[in-house]
Amino acid sequence: MRKKIQAIFVTHSHYDHLLDIGEVHKESYSKVFGSYSTIKIASASGVKKKFLNRIKINQKIKVGEFEIEVLKGNHPTHFMNFTLAEGKVDDDFSYPSSALSYKMDEVYSFLIKYKGKTIFLNASTYPSLTKKINVDIMIQGLAHAKNYNELITKQIIPSKTKLVIPSHHDNLFSSLDKEMEPVVTSDIGLFRKKI
Ligand SMILES: [Zn+2]
Repeated sequence: MRKKIQAIFVTHSHYDHLLDIGEVHKESYSKVFGSYSTIKIASASGVKKKFLNRIKINQKIKVGEFEIEVLKGNHPTHFMNFTLAEGKVDDDFSYPSSALSYKMDEVYSFLIKYKGKTIFLNASTYPSLTKKINVDIMIQGLAHAKNYNELITKQIIPSKTKLVIPSHHDNLFSSLDKEMEPVVTSDIGLFRKKI
């Protein structure tokens, strides 16, 4: 499966979004697309320069039959209006590194066109689709239940989304030996009810 991956698009460079980028790349030799910090971290994890692609908001990228448009994403604050690990990653970043050294600079969402269909990928629970466009499939981060109303009214309903695939609602600190458990700030049952 991994060998079929041609490209990895990273929404932002916090550890829970690209900790294993070097490992996945090693098995697939896929291209890596992301911000300054993402590229720096991927490079430190062993991804060679020829695979690294720095992206910008509004850029359109072709990968096989996919067209990926880079949109500005949002990132929720972690607590009291404060966001952990913000800014450009340090010049001397190296593996292994602490979770907080995976600093986040730009945040993206991705609008993907494939064979006439539209897929929207948004890691954050905030709405980030500002274009008026109909969406077939939305891969949507649902970590923060407090934002579900806004997400539904400003992004999911206006885009007439046919299918929402929940993502980023699992607790990454729980053991891999156990069943996936949701993070305490998410509530998939509530999301289902609202939608
Ligand atoms: Zn993050």
